[in-house]
Amino acid sequence: MEAALTLQQALRWAQAQLPASDSARLDAEVLLAFVLQKTRVHLYTWPEAELSPEAHTQFAQLISARAKGEPIAYLTGTQEFWSLPLVTNRHTLIPRADTELLVELALTLVPDGPLRVLDLGTGSGAIALALASERPDWQLTGVDRVADAVELARSNAARLKINNASFVPSDWFAALTGKRYDLIVSNPPYIDDADPHLTQGDVRFEPRSALVAPAAGLADIQRITVDAGEHLAVGGYLMLEHGWQQGSAVRDCLSAAGFVAVATHQDLAGRDRVTMGQRP
Ligand code: GLN
Repeated sequence: MEAALTLQQALRWAQAQLPASDSARLDAEVLLAFVLQKTRVHLYTWPEAELSPEAHTQFAQLISARAKGEPIAYLTGTQEFWSLPLVTNRHTLIPRADTELLVELALTLVPDGPLRVLDLGTGSGAIALALASERPDWQLTGVDRVADAVELARSNAARLKINNASFVPSDWFAALTGKRYDLIVSNPPYIDDADPHLTQGDVRFEPRSALVAPAAGLADIQRITVDAGEHLAVGGYLMLEHGWQQGSAVRDCLSAAGFVAVATHQDLAGRDRVTMGQRP
């Protein structure tokens, strides 16, 4: 491409490079807006504006990476979750809209007060930061066994000026001996190793340790459920995200571990997504 492209032409070119993506047009717009540091509306307001050579080169590199499947959130380095712009990188799962159900349930179903809340496997800090931003009187602790994730979550908290969330390296409860919470939440790995979902789309680029668990995806959920009791205050809640076919298995786990009022909640697609229970 020799002559300068207009924004409109650049988008058309990019779209043609992305046949594998079912959101080619949107991807192209998001990446071009990112290169120009403008909103997507700008692209439609100034379709005839010309791309500078530098912007052109950067855009072409991003489109080429996207054509190879690289997730948009890793290319732009950010993903919105619960209206918070979170920095994302390859060390953690990309926050998903599905997980906002867990945030919503925690905010609506858990009796309010100055709660101590633990987020296990916090990754980018998405759940902990969403809860902390909504409830300034809650004290959030997010743990992750991956040091790079802890660092990312801390930097997200600092950038968003969220002061009631702290992040600690810990393999589930390992570093939390003697600590108790009123609410424990987690979006642990829960996908079976053989799930074909793992070979498609963005998940191919995400850390497997954040996605996959042994025992048909249930190993970490089982472990968390067994250990949660001694880290919950009496009457405290455990809330777990899980796969849409795992509802009854997760309810069994919680019941077997002595939780009461065990119930599963559905996501926007009507599928089992979050199970919670209370420590009697
Ligand atoms: N819901 C995610 C997916 O299907 C998985 C998240 C997880 O394993 N915790 O890609």
